[in-house]
Amino acid sequence: MTAVHSTRMLVLGSGPAGLSAAIYGARAGLSPVVVQGIQPGGQLTTTTDVENYPGFREVIQGPWLMEEMQAQAEHVGARMLWDTITGVDLSERPFKVTGDSGATYVCDTLVIATGAQARWLGLDSEERLKGQGVSACATCDGFFYRGKKVAVIGGGNTAVEEALYLTNHSHDVTIVHRRDSFRAEKILQERLFAHHGITVLWNKEVAEFVAGEGTAGLVALDLKDTVTGEHSRLDVEGGFVAIGHHPATELFRGTGLTLDKDNYIAVRPGTSLTNIPGVFACGDVMDKVYRQAITAAGTGCMAALDAERFLQAADFPVPEDEAAGHPIDVAVEHAG
Ligand code: NDP
Repeated sequence: MTAVHSTRMLVLGSGPAGLSAAIYGARAGLSPVVVQGIQPGGQLTTTTDVENYPGFREVIQGPWLMEEMQAQAEHVGARMLWDTITGVDLSERPFKVTGDSGATYVCDTLVIATGAQARWLGLDSEERLKGQGVSACATCDGFFYRGKKVAVIGGGNTAVEEALYLTNHSHDVTIVHRRDSFRAEKILQERLFAHHGITVLWNKEVAEFVAGEGTAGLVALDLKDTVTGEHSRLDVEGGFVAIGHHPATELFRGTGLTLDKDNYIAVRPGTSLTNIPGVFACGDVMDKVYRQAITAAGTGCMAALDAERFLQAADFPVPEDEAAGHPIDVAVEHAG
């Protein structure tokens, strides 16, 4: 038996964007189905302290926040399913999506909230010290390094913006770049070079993140000169890896969905509308600038509102079961 799930709104991804879309979609009577994917809850489930999500006076934990969001989405009527999506057919409506489980999802609107993953250097010491001095998000974690020496690794817009941001908390920020010029936009470079609190180390790559004794976390970077091969030590308590992100868009290659030059889903500015009517994108899969839980949640809300408006304009008939608040599930025999 193969399950076929039919819904007016299918949400792919269960981070803040997907779950916010589900909450708004459910409250608009669209009975959304959320496919959770391999990392239910998204990137926040791998972070610890969250201090910048509005509504919580005390520090909260990322995994707890995501559990609450999921419970809220379920409470208002969204349905969570666990599956890994392997195929997407956006050539006609209703759209068809297939999962690793063998299930098929048929939907009038598709909300893509599959997120992005930070790129890491791939060192064992980096993995060990994640959350203990090593981070991929200065906006999220910079505050925890107030008054401490910090370094940013990378030479693109993100690295330069993160270095500038960190000067709000630290008077000793170093940016470590493997070449002798940045690829960041000129205007950002000018701001960086004009800032007295930032030192640039050219032609250096991180050979190791150095841990302190016991539970001290990161204490230094072991740097290797990319020209001479010489090693040097940079004492820092925070190391921010800013070498780019991978938006989770491989699935949509060849489907007709327009991606930008960095493989993010292209949306009409100020909306969640993609080039395919009925397909909406929200969260980090379409946002390479802000990348925050709160901005992802905001764009998730936009996607649900856009989907609702689309359905109203398209005037799709509401199936009877769904009008009663239940997404339709049909079980059909395997053809083979
Ligand atoms: P980028 O791909 O632009 O830059 C990545 C940087 O990391 C490069 O300098 C690269 O070095 C370096 N790097 C990559 N791999 C390694 C490695 N293994 N070791 C050391 N260094 C490495 O990523 P960004 O996240 O900066 O930007 C992605 C996109 O998002 C860009 O199009 C950017 O313009 C955009 N963006 C826009 C913003 C805005 O408009 N405000 C803000 C942030 C991003 P090298 O230069 O040698 O290749």
